[in-house]
Amino acid sequence: MEFSEVKSLLNDLKIIASYGKEDIAMVYLAEIKNGALIEFVESIQPPIPREKKWVLIVSTMDGCPVGCMMCDAGGYYKRKLTEEEILAQILFLTNKRYGRSIPVEKFKIQFARVGEPALNDNVLGVLEKLPHMLDAPGLMPSISTVAPVGREGWFERLLEIKNKYYIGRFQMQFSIHSTSKEQRDRIIPVKKWGFEEITKYGERFVQKGDRKVTLNFALAQENEVDASVIMEYFDPEKFLIKITPVNPTYRAVENRLNSDVDERGLVLKHRKFVEELEKSGYEVIISVGELEENKIGSNCGQYVQRHLAAQRKLENSYVFVRKE
Ligand code: SF4
Repeated sequence: MEFSEVKSLLNDLKIIASYGKEDIAMVYLAEIKNGALIEFVESIQPPIPREKKWVLIVSTMDGCPVGCMMCDAGGYYKRKLTEEEILAQILFLTNKRYGRSIPVEKFKIQFARVGEPALNDNVLGVLEKLPHMLDAPGLMPSISTVAPVGREGWFERLLEIKNKYYIGRFQMQFSIHSTSKEQRDRIIPVKKWGFEEITKYGERFVQKGDRKVTLNFALAQENEVDASVIMEYFDPEKFLIKITPVNPTYRAVENRLNSDVDERGLVLKHRKFVEELEKSGYEVIISVGELEENKIGSNCGQYVQRHLAAQRKLENSYVFVRKE
Protein backbone atom coordinates (compact mmCIF):
# COMPACT_ATOMS: atom_id res chain seq x y z
CA MET A 1 0.00 0.00 0.00
CA GLU A 2 1.27 3.42 -0.95
CA PHE A 3 1.81 6.22 1.54
CA SER A 4 -0.94 8.25 -0.13
CA GLU A 5 -3.45 5.43 0.37
CA VAL A 6 -2.58 5.16 4.06
CA LYS A 7 -2.95 8.91 4.37
CA SER A 8 -6.35 8.89 2.74
CA LEU A 9 -7.50 6.08 5.07
CA LEU A 10 -6.40 8.15 8.04
CA ASN A 11 -8.20 11.18 6.70
CA ASP A 12 -11.44 9.28 7.31
CA LEU A 13 -10.72 9.29 11.02
CA LYS A 14 -10.75 12.37 13.21
CA ILE A 15 -9.69 11.76 16.82
CA ILE A 16 -11.92 13.86 19.05
CA ALA A 17 -10.86 12.58 22.48
CA SER A 18 -8.54 10.10 24.13
CA TYR A 19 -8.54 8.78 27.67
CA GLY A 20 -6.22 6.67 29.78
CA LYS A 21 -2.56 6.19 30.51
CA GLU A 22 0.04 5.62 27.84
CA ASP A 23 1.78 2.97 29.95
CA ILE A 24 -1.37 0.85 30.42
CA ALA A 25 -4.21 1.56 28.03
CA MET A 26 -5.60 4.36 25.92
CA VAL A 27 -9.15 4.64 24.59
CA TYR A 28 -9.59 6.77 21.47
CA LEU A 29 -12.87 8.29 20.41
CA ALA A 30 -12.96 9.15 16.71
CA GLU A 31 -15.40 10.71 14.32
CA ILE A 32 -15.64 9.03 10.94
CA LYS A 33 -16.87 10.18 7.56
CA ASN A 34 -20.60 10.61 8.12
CA GLY A 35 -20.27 11.91 11.65
CA ALA A 36 -20.54 8.53 13.38
CA LEU A 37 -18.46 8.00 16.50
CA ILE A 38 -16.28 4.96 17.02
CA GLU A 39 -13.88 3.97 19.71
CA PHE A 40 -10.79 1.79 19.83
CA VAL A 41 -8.12 0.87 22.32
CA GLU A 42 -4.44 0.08 22.62
CA SER A 43 -3.02 -1.57 25.70
CA ILE A 44 0.10 -3.07 27.15
CA GLN A 45 0.48 -5.31 30.13
CA PRO A 46 3.01 -3.88 32.58
CA PRO A 47 5.73 -4.90 33.30
CA ILE A 48 5.86 -6.52 29.83
CA PRO A 49 7.29 -3.89 27.43
CA ARG A 50 5.39 -2.88 24.29
CA GLU A 51 8.04 -4.56 22.10
CA LYS A 52 7.09 -7.89 23.67
CA LYS A 53 3.30 -7.50 23.69
CA TRP A 54 1.02 -4.84 22.28
CA VAL A 55 -2.74 -5.24 21.97
CA LEU A 56 -5.04 -3.22 19.72
CA ILE A 57 -8.80 -3.57 20.16
CA VAL A 58 -10.78 -2.14 17.27
CA SER A 59 -14.48 -1.67 16.52
CA THR A 60 -16.20 -3.41 13.64
CA MET A 61 -19.56 -1.64 13.94
CA ASP A 62 -21.06 1.65 15.04
CA GLY A 63 -22.98 0.18 17.98
CA CYS A 64 -23.97 -3.48 18.11
CA PRO A 65 -27.30 -5.19 17.36
CA VAL A 66 -26.65 -8.16 19.67
CA GLY A 67 -27.18 -6.53 23.09
CA CYS A 68 -25.40 -8.92 25.46
CA MET A 69 -26.49 -8.53 29.07
CA MET A 70 -23.15 -7.29 30.43
CA CYS A 71 -21.98 -5.15 27.53
CA ASP A 72 -22.31 -1.36 27.37
CA ALA A 73 -21.74 -1.40 23.60
CA GLY A 74 -25.00 -3.17 22.84
CA GLY A 75 -27.28 -0.22 23.61
CA TYR A 76 -27.77 0.96 20.04
CA TYR A 77 -26.83 -0.01 16.49
CA LYS A 78 -26.28 2.18 13.49
CA ARG A 79 -24.25 0.30 10.87
CA LYS A 80 -21.30 -1.92 9.99
CA LEU A 81 -17.96 -0.23 9.55
CA THR A 82 -16.29 -0.37 6.15
CA GLU A 83 -12.91 -2.02 5.55
CA GLU A 84 -11.36 1.44 5.40
CA GLU A 85 -12.86 2.49 8.71
CA ILE A 86 -11.57 -0.63 10.45
CA LEU A 87 -8.13 -0.33 8.84
CA ALA A 88 -7.93 3.36 9.75
CA GLN A 89 -8.19 2.50 13.48
CA ILE A 90 -5.30 0.02 13.14
CA LEU A 91 -3.14 2.34 11.03
CA PHE A 92 -3.70 5.28 13.35
CA LEU A 93 -2.17 3.26 16.18
CA THR A 94 0.64 1.62 14.20
CA ASN A 95 1.59 5.02 12.74
CA LYS A 96 1.58 6.57 16.17
CA ARG A 97 4.01 4.03 17.60
CA TYR A 98 6.05 2.49 14.80
CA GLY A 99 5.01 3.23 11.23
CA ARG A 100 4.55 0.21 8.94
CA SER A 101 7.17 -2.11 10.50
CA ILE A 102 6.03 -3.41 13.85
CA PRO A 103 8.87 -5.00 15.82
CA VAL A 104 6.59 -6.47 18.45
CA GLU A 105 6.88 -10.13 19.42
CA LYS A 106 3.17 -10.56 20.14
CA PHE A 107 1.18 -7.96 18.24
CA LYS A 108 -2.45 -8.78 18.87
CA ILE A 109 -5.30 -7.14 17.01
CA GLN A 110 -8.64 -7.96 18.58
CA PHE A 111 -11.78 -7.21 16.59
CA ALA A 112 -13.66 -6.84 19.82
CA ARG A 113 -14.30 -3.29 20.99
CA VAL A 114 -17.76 -2.59 19.57
CA GLY A 115 -19.64 -4.89 17.21
CA GLU A 116 -20.06 -8.59 16.52
CA PRO A 117 -17.36 -9.30 13.91
CA ALA A 118 -19.13 -12.27 12.31
CA LEU A 119 -21.96 -9.96 11.20
CA ASN A 120 -19.59 -7.86 9.10
CA ASP A 121 -17.98 -9.20 5.87
CA ASN A 122 -15.56 -6.27 5.90
CA VAL A 123 -13.71 -7.85 8.82
CA LEU A 124 -12.64 -10.64 6.44
CA GLY A 125 -11.34 -8.12 3.92
CA VAL A 126 -9.28 -6.47 6.66
CA LEU A 127 -7.81 -9.83 7.71
CA GLU A 128 -6.79 -10.51 4.11
CA LYS A 129 -5.18 -7.09 3.67
CA LEU A 130 -3.23 -6.79 6.92
CA PRO A 131 -0.36 -9.15 5.99
CA HIS A 132 0.20 -7.05 2.82
CA MET A 133 -0.01 -3.69 4.58
CA LEU A 134 2.13 -4.22 7.64
CA ASP A 135 5.53 -5.73 8.12
CA ALA A 136 4.59 -7.39 11.38
CA PRO A 137 6.02 -10.86 12.04
CA GLY A 138 4.33 -10.97 15.46
CA LEU A 139 0.86 -10.16 14.11
CA MET A 140 -1.86 -12.26 15.71
CA PRO A 141 -5.50 -11.43 14.91
CA SER A 142 -8.11 -12.37 17.45
CA ILE A 143 -11.77 -12.89 16.66
CA SER A 144 -14.22 -13.11 19.49
CA THR A 145 -17.73 -14.07 18.42
CA VAL A 146 -21.11 -15.14 19.78
CA ALA A 147 -21.47 -17.27 16.58
CA PRO A 148 -24.67 -15.84 15.08
CA VAL A 149 -26.67 -18.25 12.89
CA GLY A 150 -26.88 -17.61 9.17
CA ARG A 151 -23.20 -16.60 8.96
CA GLU A 152 -21.84 -20.01 8.00
CA GLY A 153 -20.32 -18.58 4.79
CA TRP A 154 -18.45 -15.97 6.84
CA PHE A 155 -17.01 -18.65 9.12
CA GLU A 156 -15.93 -20.77 6.11
CA ARG A 157 -14.09 -17.83 4.58
CA LEU A 158 -12.49 -17.05 7.92
CA LEU A 159 -11.14 -20.60 8.06
CA GLU A 160 -9.66 -20.24 4.56
CA ILE A 161 -8.04 -16.90 5.45
CA LYS A 162 -6.58 -18.34 8.66
CA ASN A 163 -5.13 -21.28 6.72
CA LYS A 164 -3.67 -18.99 4.08
CA TYR A 165 -2.10 -16.29 6.28
CA TYR A 166 -2.22 -17.09 9.96
CA ILE A 167 -1.52 -20.77 10.72
CA GLY A 168 -0.33 -20.96 14.33
CA ARG A 169 -0.99 -17.28 15.01
CA PHE A 170 -4.71 -16.77 15.07
CA GLN A 171 -6.85 -16.59 18.17
CA MET A 172 -10.39 -17.83 17.68
CA GLN A 173 -12.73 -17.29 20.57
CA PHE A 174 -16.38 -18.16 21.14
CA SER A 175 -18.26 -16.26 23.84
CA ILE A 176 -20.21 -18.87 25.80
CA HIS A 177 -20.85 -17.43 29.30
CA SER A 178 -23.26 -20.17 30.42
CA THR A 179 -23.65 -23.91 29.82
CA SER A 180 -27.44 -23.63 30.13
CA LYS A 181 -29.05 -23.07 26.74
CA GLU A 182 -31.89 -20.99 28.20
CA GLN A 183 -29.58 -18.77 30.18
CA ARG A 184 -27.16 -18.40 27.26
CA ASP A 185 -30.14 -17.20 25.20
CA ARG A 186 -30.89 -14.55 27.80
CA ILE A 187 -27.29 -13.37 28.12
CA ILE A 188 -26.73 -13.30 24.34
CA PRO A 189 -30.19 -12.50 22.94
CA VAL A 190 -29.72 -13.51 19.29
CA LYS A 191 -30.02 -16.80 17.41
CA LYS A 192 -26.63 -18.45 17.56
CA TRP A 193 -24.86 -21.75 17.12
CA GLY A 194 -25.40 -24.42 19.73
CA PHE A 195 -22.47 -26.32 21.23
CA GLU A 196 -22.75 -28.99 18.47
CA GLU A 197 -22.05 -26.41 15.75
CA ILE A 198 -19.28 -24.70 17.72
CA THR A 199 -17.47 -27.96 18.37
CA LYS A 200 -17.79 -29.10 14.74
CA TYR A 201 -16.33 -25.83 13.48
CA GLY A 202 -13.60 -25.71 16.16
CA GLU A 203 -12.49 -29.26 15.32
CA ARG A 204 -11.95 -28.19 11.72
CA PHE A 205 -10.45 -24.84 12.65
CA VAL A 206 -7.58 -26.18 14.77
CA GLN A 207 -5.02 -27.73 12.44
CA LYS A 208 -1.42 -28.77 13.01
CA GLY A 209 0.46 -25.93 14.72
CA ASP A 210 -2.68 -23.88 15.44
CA ARG A 211 -3.64 -22.47 18.80
CA LYS A 212 -6.60 -24.05 20.54
CA VAL A 213 -10.02 -22.44 20.15
CA THR A 214 -11.02 -20.49 23.27
CA LEU A 215 -14.40 -20.84 24.98
CA ASN A 216 -14.87 -17.63 26.94
CA PHE A 217 -16.95 -17.21 30.06
CA ALA A 218 -17.45 -13.67 31.38
CA LEU A 219 -18.37 -15.30 34.64
CA ALA A 220 -21.04 -13.89 36.92
CA GLN A 221 -22.11 -15.62 40.12
CA GLU A 222 -25.58 -15.75 38.56
CA ASN A 223 -24.34 -17.77 35.55
CA GLU A 224 -24.98 -21.51 35.40
CA VAL A 225 -21.87 -23.51 34.54
CA ASP A 226 -21.57 -27.28 34.45
CA ALA A 227 -18.24 -28.92 33.61
CA SER A 228 -19.94 -32.11 32.38
CA VAL A 229 -21.60 -30.14 29.55
CA ILE A 230 -18.20 -28.87 28.40
CA MET A 231 -16.78 -32.39 28.60
CA GLU A 232 -19.69 -33.77 26.57
CA TYR A 233 -19.04 -31.45 23.62
CA PHE A 234 -15.48 -30.12 23.60
CA ASP A 235 -12.18 -31.94 23.18
CA PRO A 236 -9.50 -30.57 25.56
CA GLU A 237 -6.93 -31.09 22.79
CA LYS A 238 -8.72 -28.51 20.62
CA PHE A 239 -10.47 -26.19 23.07
CA LEU A 240 -9.33 -24.23 26.10
CA ILE A 241 -11.45 -22.38 28.63
CA LYS A 242 -10.95 -18.73 29.45
CA ILE A 243 -12.67 -17.19 32.44
CA THR A 244 -12.85 -13.43 32.76
CA PRO A 245 -14.57 -11.17 35.30
CA VAL A 246 -17.80 -9.41 34.49
CA ASN A 247 -16.36 -5.92 34.25
CA PRO A 248 -18.07 -2.94 35.94
CA THR A 249 -20.34 -1.87 33.11
CA TYR A 250 -23.68 -0.03 33.26
CA ARG A 251 -25.43 -3.05 31.77
CA ALA A 252 -23.94 -5.46 34.32
CA VAL A 253 -25.18 -3.21 37.13
CA GLU A 254 -28.65 -2.84 35.55
CA ASN A 255 -28.90 -6.61 35.10
CA ARG A 256 -27.60 -7.28 38.64
CA LEU A 257 -24.67 -9.40 37.48
CA ASN A 258 -21.98 -9.92 40.12
CA SER A 259 -18.57 -10.97 38.91
CA ASP A 260 -17.48 -14.38 40.11
CA VAL A 261 -13.81 -13.53 39.58
CA ASP A 262 -12.28 -11.28 42.21
CA GLU A 263 -9.47 -8.75 41.92
CA ARG A 264 -6.82 -11.37 42.71
CA GLY A 265 -8.05 -13.60 39.90
CA LEU A 266 -9.77 -16.06 42.21
CA VAL A 267 -12.96 -17.75 41.07
CA LEU A 268 -15.44 -17.65 43.93
CA LYS A 269 -18.76 -19.49 43.56
CA HIS A 270 -17.78 -21.55 40.52
CA ARG A 271 -14.44 -22.84 41.82
CA LYS A 272 -15.64 -26.45 41.43
CA PHE A 273 -16.37 -25.86 37.74
CA VAL A 274 -12.75 -24.81 37.23
CA GLU A 275 -11.34 -27.70 39.25
CA GLU A 276 -13.41 -30.29 37.41
CA LEU A 277 -12.32 -28.94 34.04
CA GLU A 278 -8.66 -28.92 35.07
CA LYS A 279 -8.95 -32.46 36.41
CA SER A 280 -10.36 -33.54 33.06
CA GLY A 281 -7.38 -32.16 31.15
CA TYR A 282 -8.64 -28.75 30.04
CA GLU A 283 -6.36 -25.77 30.04
CA VAL A 284 -8.20 -23.11 32.04
CA ILE A 285 -7.01 -19.50 31.91
CA ILE A 286 -8.30 -17.02 34.45
CA SER A 287 -7.72 -13.63 32.90
CA VAL A 288 -8.24 -10.55 35.05
CA GLY A 289 -6.12 -8.00 33.19
CA GLU A 290 -5.25 -4.65 34.72
CA LEU A 291 -7.78 -3.30 37.23
CA GLU A 292 -6.71 0.19 36.24
CA GLU A 293 -8.31 -0.53 32.85
CA ASN A 294 -11.77 -0.48 34.43
CA LYS A 295 -11.14 3.10 35.46
CA ILE A 296 -9.88 3.94 32.00
CA GLY A 297 -12.91 2.28 30.41
CA SER A 298 -10.80 0.12 28.11
CA ASN A 299 -11.85 -3.28 29.43
CA CYS A 300 -14.10 -5.78 27.72
CA GLY A 301 -17.75 -4.70 27.61
CA GLN A 302 -16.95 -1.09 28.41
CA TYR A 303 -17.99 1.65 26.07
CA VAL A 304 -17.00 5.23 26.79
CA GLN A 305 -19.95 6.69 24.91
CA ARG A 306 -22.36 4.84 27.21
CA HIS A 307 -20.61 6.49 30.15
CA LEU A 308 -20.76 9.94 28.59
CA ALA A 309 -24.49 9.54 28.02
CA ALA A 310 -25.29 8.19 31.51
CA GLN A 311 -27.22 10.43 33.91
CA ARG A 312 -26.01 8.63 37.00
CA LYS A 313 -22.35 7.71 36.67
CA LEU A 314 -20.76 4.51 37.97
CA GLU A 315 -18.29 5.29 40.73
CA ASN A 316 -15.41 2.90 40.20
CA SER A 317 -15.14 2.69 36.46
CA TYR A 318 -14.55 5.13 33.60
CA VAL A 319 -13.02 7.59 36.09
CA PHE A 320 -10.47 8.82 33.55
CA VAL A 321 -13.27 9.80 31.23
CA ARG A 322 -14.39 13.38 31.68
CA LYS A 323 -16.91 15.19 29.56
CA GLU A 324 -15.09 17.99 27.73
S1 SF4 B 1 -20.36 -8.35 23.79
FE1 SF4 B 1 -19.88 -8.09 21.62
S2 SF4 B 1 -21.65 -9.04 20.58
FE2 SF4 B 1 -22.30 -8.66 22.69
S3 SF4 B 1 -23.30 -6.63 22.64
FE3 SF4 B 1 -21.12 -6.31 23.19
S4 SF4 B 1 -20.11 -5.86 21.25
FE4 SF4 B 1 -22.08 -6.82 20.75
